[in-house]
Amino acid sequence: MMLLIKNGRTIDPAAQADQVCDILIENGIIKEISSSIKASGSIEVIDASGLVVSPGFIDIHVHLREPGQEHKEDIETGSRAAAHGGFTSIVCMPNTSPVNDNIKVTRHIIDRAKEVGLVNVFPVAAISMNLESQELTDMAALVKAGVKGFSDDGRCVMSDALFKQALEKAKTLQVPVIDHPEDHSISRDGQINEGVISAQFGIKGIPAKSEEVIIERDIGLQEAVGSFLHLTHISTLGAVQSICEAKKRGIHVTSDVTPHHLLLDETFIAREGICDANYKMKPPLRTANDRLALVMGLQAGVIDCIATDHAPHSAAEKSTEFEKAPFGVIGMETAFSVIYDRLVRTGIIDLKRLIELFSTNPARIFNLKGRGVVKAGSMADLTILNLEQPFKIRADDFQSKSINCPFIGWEGQGVVEYTIVSGKVVYRRQ
Ligand SMILES: [Zn+2]
Repeated sequence: MMLLIKNGRTIDPAAQADQVCDILIENGIIKEISSSIKASGSIEVIDASGLVVSPGFIDIHVHLREPGQEHKEDIETGSRAAAHGGFTSIVCMPNTSPVNDNIKVTRHIIDRAKEVGLVNVFPVAAISMNLESQELTDMAALVKAGVKGFSDDGRCVMSDALFKQALEKAKTLQVPVIDHPEDHSISRDGQINEGVISAQFGIKGIPAKSEEVIIERDIGLQEAVGSFLHLTHISTLGAVQSICEAKKRGIHVTSDVTPHHLLLDETFIAREGICDANYKMKPPLRTANDRLALVMGLQAGVIDCIATDHAPHSAAEKSTEFEKAPFGVIGMETAFSVIYDRLVRTGIIDLKRLIELFSTNPARIFNLKGRGVVKAGSMADLTILNLEQPFKIRADDFQSKSINCPFIGWEGQGVVEYTIVSGKVVYRRQ
């Protein structure tokens, strides 16, 4: 099976490359990159003139809901949503039902994703059995079964001792530990950021401190252990400051931020005078100052990647009373367009930096060999972008089973034109 991509502007931050070239793909691998490759025989050709060819996007924080909550999403619809959003690989979190804390669930996810055959699905397994912060999972067996890291996402590991043990074990296994930084004894049953909006509507707040104390704890433990710590969906100014200082001190810590925390703040929750659950997530949307700190963290390299925390919930679940609605929003299908339009077209970050955040760095953090790069011999996972094409985000266009998205109705410019996984076109814009 051969595919030739002609005349695309290929940007590969890992190789400091930005050039118009042709890319020849054979049997899922990039065979040759050069200024002109002639098409021969029955080879499929994509004319990428005027388009940008990026190493395939990698979303390192996704909830696929299978097994157990297939009314929200399943591995097939989640894979389709990923392909639609330009993601060639996704990392799925373990808070399914049952929890991915054993190799039986891990194998189901890997096997089902292969059957679906659209994007690469890399499972993360739980740190603690049943996410209960009591007993470590069999991390070595889970890595052998194919997991790429560990997290109790949705919950924080509240036991310092257990989190330290997880870092120690992960160090020997050479995989990241991904923490959802939230001190549950501080956040309790808070619903939105503790601040002006929570006070105005009389809704219980989630203080910034609930995130910041755990980030400080994790950095301290990581400094002692020297493992692979990744802090996910950071949301506060204090979090950015702590990570910045840790990096300056040479502590190995990486982090990601979501598109919604980069582009929205707590004032969006109640724009119509009532609280809209499509702006309800954990961590919550914070203040305008927090949002600015996250954007500056992206610019300065304190934050390493953008991950969506794609968290599907049914329309019925999200449309109940605000305080009963579940936390989380979907994000894979809109991430590139909203970030490109609002942060690149406005000159806040450049396109090369966007590609680092969506592909180069995620591949490095999860040690995904042969991905996040465009070079001969690497996997033919590519995302082809049309930077001129206008968009309007509509729920009808989503491949996800769920439509809980705060960006519906947004307009701008810059879309995914093709998603290519192992040399196979898995999404093509109509
Ligand atoms: Zn989380």
